[in-house]
Amino acid sequence: MSSLFVRTLREDPADAEVASHRWLVRAGYIRRAAPGIYTWLPLGLAVLHKVEQIVREEMDAIGAQEVSFPALLPREPYEATNRWTEYGELVFRLKDRRGADMLLGPTHEEMFTLLVKDLYNSYKDLPVSLYQIQTKYRDEARPRAGLLRGREFIMKDSYSFDVDDAGLEASYQKHREAYVKIFDRLGFDYVIVKADAGAMGGSASEEFLAIADSGEDTFVRSPGGYAANVEAVSITPAEAQPIEGQPAAHVEDTPDTPTIESLVALSNEKYRREDRAWTGADTLKNVVFMLENPDGSTEALAIGLPGDREVDPKRLEAAVSPAEPRPFTDEDFAANPALVKGYIGPVTMDAPEGAVQVLGAEATSTVRYLVDPRVAEGTRWITGSNIHGRHVYDLVMGRDFTADGTIDVAEIREGDPAPDGSGPMTLARGIEMGHIFQLGRKYAEALGLKVLDQNGKLVTVTMGSYGVGVSRAVAAVAEGTSDEKGLCWPRELAPFDVMVLATGKGEQVLEAAEKLADDLDARGVKVLLDDRKASPGVKFADAELLGVPTSVVVGRGLAEGTVEVKDRRSGQARPVALAEAVAEVLAEIGR
Ligand code: ATP
Ligand code: MG
Repeated sequence: MSSLFVRTLREDPADAEVASHRWLVRAGYIRRAAPGIYTWLPLGLAVLHKVEQIVREEMDAIGAQEVSFPALLPREPYEATNRWTEYGELVFRLKDRRGADMLLGPTHEEMFTLLVKDLYNSYKDLPVSLYQIQTKYRDEARPRAGLLRGREFIMKDSYSFDVDDAGLEASYQKHREAYVKIFDRLGFDYVIVKADAGAMGGSASEEFLAIADSGEDTFVRSPGGYAANVEAVSITPAEAQPIEGQPAAHVEDTPDTPTIESLVALSNEKYRREDRAWTGADTLKNVVFMLENPDGSTEALAIGLPGDREVDPKRLEAAVSPAEPRPFTDEDFAANPALVKGYIGPVTMDAPEGAVQVLGAEATSTVRYLVDPRVAEGTRWITGSNIHGRHVYDLVMGRDFTADGTIDVAEIREGDPAPDGSGPMTLARGIEMGHIFQLGRKYAEALGLKVLDQNGKLVTVTMGSYGVGVSRAVAAVAEGTSDEKGLCWPRELAPFDVMVLATGKGEQVLEAAEKLADDLDARGVKVLLDDRKASPGVKFADAELLGVPTSVVVGRGLAEGTVEVKDRRSGQARPVALAEAVAEVLAEIGR
């Protein structure tokens, strides 16, 4: 400890929102260099290397081969797949001295695809899986929580190459099994959930989420085994209803109804339904967004959904990616005068020239109109009339209005039925630790990766892409294991196996502690000896902060020939004869 490059801090860093960030900085594992960019200190690096090693071993075990790409990359491959544009502001871009565009790689599908194209040309060369553990750069809109969401971070990314779909499926399953082993070894409490394939395209896709309240992802589970990121939940569309026999639409005054509750209350008082009371789920709320495309163009989108639900921002982002949604501004409303803020509806029933479609397939506006899958053919709604202070009742989908399509972005609520019929869903939060997906032929097609098949015919290769957040894992483990005293590493990741604390004055104590440390070291145990001239209190507090799973306290008991073996997690200490200390520690750490 007296020579280790570390300074523990008594104060939390000002920007620490989560436990892992606070403790990793205070315990001297990492230092902030810039927002979302961190320097690894010796202790942090030791943990990082252990995570990398676990990942490496499990990747090697499925026969994946390690390579290492540069982070500094040319524009052209990313241009060919359109990601130079699609990635928008997420990419760090730069120019070399000749003015050529370069980027810092946010992910490497293109480079791997080109590498295989460069060297392989026959089905006999496949399958092959390649991986790297490498630094990625993303100019995240909201870097946060220290290593959890950085702008520079370490990822293990691997890619599989197969001639056919069955091959891809097999490569995917192998990766899935390797990921289960990786996350089991890292000691995560995790779930595997169905994921949204997002900007990458492709089909089958799953995420590994560490269960944590501080996580940015929300996932659902059902008793029957359904598990999905909320972004990837596709609800069961409502059934179409017969249109015949439904009452005619009528527009009514609805003053002072700024909320759905007030509208429902007034409706039940003045415009009662014949069969039952109106509820929030009978109202059709129309929310307008401006979608900003990566190329700078914009497009207005109105979303119709039951008024008792909100649009879930994350589900919306996932659904419209790579475009980015933002709420309508007053200028946007001014440019679309048919949309009356607070009273937006698909039709203006009582316009002088008769009913006018404002949104939907034959609409007057250029605003695209997509509805929630609950807004099925024949369903009947209370909705805005495009006139201030008035709503329209009994507006029937397919009779009075249409839409340009459906969009499944309403919030998912606790108790909603799972789409596969496996029971009511519960919601929880998680940290995305890994993502595996079947890319298919998108990248191979864009970059021309083809091989000759058995019949001498050129076929496009099919690919999988698999990521693990390696630096994020360091933080996520810290997040899941730390307590009110500091870090608390599982043995497999701890930077040291054991700490030996020399507490108390006198040469004897230090000599005994040094000897014990040497003896343990000779047995292959990684020891951190606290030999500083500091008070026992300081040493105990630092040992707790650093989070080494076991420590041996050499001090008071020495006169009687005993030391104390202390467990970081339980805080329990037991006296052990000095002569037995090495054997006790070896047993404790499972050697
Ligand atoms: P997120 O939804 O958290 O932004 P992503 O979908 O962008 O993640 P991928 O592109 O699939 O992530 O990257 C693979 C893995 O890299 C993720 O599962 C995650 O563990 C890690 N990762 C992604 N972005 C970051 C980041 N900004 N900082 C640290 N790790 C990250
Ligand atoms: Mg991301």
